[in-house]
Amino acid sequence: MNDRMLCQSCSEQRNELHSIESKIIAGYRLTLCTICIRKQLEPRFVVILALQKSGLTPEIQNIVQNQRYHGPIITLSEYINVDK
Ligand SMILES: [Zn+2]
Repeated sequence: MNDRMLCQSCSEQRNELHSIESKIIAGYRLTLCTICIRKQLEPRFVVILALQKSGLTPEIQNIVQNQRYHGPIITLSEYINVDK
């Protein structure tokens, strides 16, 4: 078993990871490294999930506008064209 894990935000292998609750999806547990926690980052997929679930709340808007996630900029089409 490989007990080294990846940070869900930056996808880097870190010695130290923490299980914390997402600030934008209540009850959603995240495994993040110290750096991402300090920068108050959320994983990109969680930001998109939160947008689909809750829309553009002030907290989510803050994260989107300040790009508090790794990866390419999230575009409207990534969360408005949801099936159902
Ligand atoms: Zn990280």
